[in-house]
Amino acid sequence: MKLYEEFGAVGAWLDLDGHFGNSIEDTRSFNPIVDKAIPRDCNINPSGKNDHYVSHFKEQLAIVGEKIKKNKVHYVVFAHGADSHLDDDLGGYCDTEHWVECAQVFSDWVNEISLSIGRPLPVTMALFGGYRKSNYKAVLDLHIDSLATCLLNIDKRPVSRS
Ligand SMILES: [Zn+2]
Repeated sequence: MKLYEEFGAVGAWLDLDGHFGNSIEDTRSFNPIVDKAIPRDCNINPSGKNDHYVSHFKEQLAIVGEKIKKNKVHYVVFAHGADSHLDDDLGGYCDTEHWVECAQVFSDWVNEISLSIGRPLPVTMALFGGYRKSNYKAVLDLHIDSLATCLLNIDKRPVSRS
């Protein structure tokens, strides 16, 4: 909301946490600025399992991508919760291969969008959830895999305007 109020910046939340992004949705009822700062169709939360989850994520990214190209969305937040992993205590949607694939899909998409708009797309990456009472290291390993995948893949060179 601060980004919107100070700079007019509209964001998209790519919420791959195992929980639905209710902190944003619940805030809409008492703070209508959220509707402008993060439009309803820009708080995305894929569903399905493994291949279906990854496909749904790609479909949602395509919608957000069109909004970015039309300058209606100005930055994205990638919230890659580890509680969307199937082995998490809270259930989940993806095995390790598909969970990490989401980071690859996201970072490929960032590169594609940055090229398309002629400048680097502003990205924030957030760790979000992950709950394994007997194996917290597995949660940290997933977060590290996601961050490393994104940081190694996202092209950080300035994109020249054509
Ligand atoms: Zn969560």
